[in-house]
Amino acid sequence: MTQSRPRVLVIGAGFAGFHALRRLERRLPAEAAELVLVNPTDYLLYTPLVPEVATGALQPRDAAVPLRQALPRTRRVLGQVTAVDLSERTVTVELLDTGGQVSGTRTESWDRLVLTPGSVTRQFDIPGLAEHALGVKTLTEALYLRDHLLTQLDRADTTPATEDGERERRERLTVVAVGAGYTGVEVVAQLRRWTHTVADRWSRIKPTDVRWLLIDIADTVLPELGAELGDVARDVLRDRGIEIRLGVSLESAGERSVTLTDGTVVPTRTVIWGAGVSANPLVAGLGRPLEKGRLVVDAQLRVPGVEHVWAAGDAAAVPDLTKQPTSTDTGGDDGDGGVAYRWPPTPTTAQHAQRQGVALARNVAASLGVGRARPYRHHNLGLVADLGGWDAVAQVLGVSLAGPAAKTVTRAYHLLALPMTPNRVRVAADWLLAAALPSQVVQLSEVQPGEAVMARAQRTDIYPRDR
Ligand SMILES: Cc1cc2nc3c(=O)[nH]c(=O)nc-3n(C[C@H](O)[C@H](O)[C@H](O)COP(=O)(O)OP(=O)(O)OC[C@H]3O[C@@H](n4cnc5c(N)ncnc54)[C@H](O)[C@@H]3O)c2cc1C
Repeated sequence: MTQSRPRVLVIGAGFAGFHALRRLERRLPAEAAELVLVNPTDYLLYTPLVPEVATGALQPRDAAVPLRQALPRTRRVLGQVTAVDLSERTVTVELLDTGGQVSGTRTESWDRLVLTPGSVTRQFDIPGLAEHALGVKTLTEALYLRDHLLTQLDRADTTPATEDGERERRERLTVVAVGAGYTGVEVVAQLRRWTHTVADRWSRIKPTDVRWLLIDIADTVLPELGAELGDVARDVLRDRGIEIRLGVSLESAGERSVTLTDGTVVPTRTVIWGAGVSANPLVAGLGRPLEKGRLVVDAQLRVPGVEHVWAAGDAAAVPDLTKQPTSTDTGGDDGDGGVAYRWPPTPTTAQHAQRQGVALARNVAASLGVGRARPYRHHNLGLVADLGGWDAVAQVLGVSLAGPAAKTVTRAYHLLALPMTPNRVRVAADWLLAAALPSQVVQLSEVQPGEAVMARAQRTDIYPRDR
């Protein structure tokens, strides 16, 4: 029976892939299809909670939703797809062992293909960036960042009272964060608050000795939430003593300093890089049309011109049907009255990725004779940003909230959006413990420096063209 069933193969168990499979498990009878997932980890990472893993407020496993329990009917392949052959209907998978070591290669065939490999941290051609900057997209990076900051405090506490010692102390006590979008702002706000609560445990360091600098080439903070909430977030950051420099970026990054585009040299050993994302490089290798690096799909999330292939989430440019389309005159030869409409792509958020996963599952099931296909259309419900403590900003159904009200909404939203009850209970328990007990300041050194480098942590070094 297994061999005669059509095989639905999903690449990537992020918000889109996970929710697609969850819906397919519910929607399709077992005999209708075999479900296969290729993903480098055995969990879905609930990324909005990654900054809290970096501060230690949350245990890393509590932000990781176990695929084994959540997707019981799906055959999981622990590995990463390095190439897709659209004509042969196969993918090449690098199989992964403990610690992410490649243990072999396998070819998997498919009858229906779902491309949901998400995004990677966007890097520019900035000298030294790849080697010295720390990303904040994976658990590996979050755990390393926390240990790294604790090491800086440890070492700064024991530098000798000499000129060289003073210079080293200044480097170790300066953190430069790049990117004032929600990832950068959440990370820097929460980490700054955390270091402030723990730094007085060292004998020679006062919390105010740590210098925080947030820079962005844009001229606003948190543009995703609009000017009003952006200003609120900026004021919270400034009240915490974080210097904000807008209109500048990084010129280069070194082991002991960074140079900004305005020529300023900042001595530092910590550069946090949260300057946005770009589509996973896998989709660029397909030879299909891209829009700003994202795979072009139609409103039903199908990849045009290839049968039985769908894509969603950060890797796909899904037309946002709730927005105003732009029209172009096509000369009248294509049977549509001479006008083609183009919608802007949906933003790269978990909210869209999750709902696209569900819509995509419906359409895949329809291609297997179960139900009817529909276009994806979803009105944005809003966005939240947790700034640590009782500070947060949220825009929910057009209403702007700040402070404790926003914090309550943010936490309630995450508890609801986490897909498994055990994760919800653990996260809620972590929050209660973090409120009641002092932060545990221990380094477990689980991640080695080489593993924390962005290309390695986000596994972008596996694609042939990027190797
Ligand atoms: C720190 C942080 C905080 C965020 N906070 C919010 C927030 O508060 N609200 C919000 O809406 N959005 C937030 N986002 C954005 C949100 O995480 C993304 O929009 C969302 O994860 C996109 O879902 P996705 O399924 O497309 O991709 P992802 O969730 O990135 O998942 C992609 C999956 O594919 C796997 N994969 C990658 N390459 C391959 C391959 N070659 N083969 C097999 N598998 C592969 C990956 O390992 C991963 O499991 C945040 C992002 C970050 C980094």
